[in-house]
Amino acid sequence: MSEQKQGDYRTRTDICLRCPQGCEVQTMLGPDDEILNISGNKCKLGREYVEQEIRDPRRVLPTSVRVKNGTRPLVPVWTPEPMPKGMIMDLAAESRKIEVEAPVHVGDVVLDDWRGLGIRLVASGEVERAE
Ligand code: SF4
Repeated sequence: MSEQKQGDYRTRTDICLRCPQGCEVQTMLGPDDEILNISGNKCKLGREYVEQEIRDPRRVLPTSVRVKNGTRPLVPVWTPEPMPKGMIMDLAAESRKIEVEAPVHVGDVVLDDWRGLGIRLVASGEVERAE
């Protein structure tokens, strides 16, 4: 995202990530951050994408957590539901404190309802138990 200011008005440019076309979408915002105009999107998903990016940007966090008694020391995990972008670094820090017992299977929930926000960390890999 890039942004240009003209007095009380701002124009931001986002690349829409809803499909591989990657349209460059320009949004003009007023003094109270109200959306005045959106252009450059080839379909309505581009407008939805930018509105979400402005009002409530979300991302998926891919990270890993430690595994105890496993054939590997780490297992990859992710947030299957996109979470608030501003909290990504906090959850990444939290994930470094987590240790799960092997075996770990794809889909295992390693952290549930983080901060009461319904955010989950779920395993996206397998780690067998070391014999
Ligand atoms: S605006 Fe529509 S066509 Fe363009 S990248 Fe987004 S989803 Fe794809």
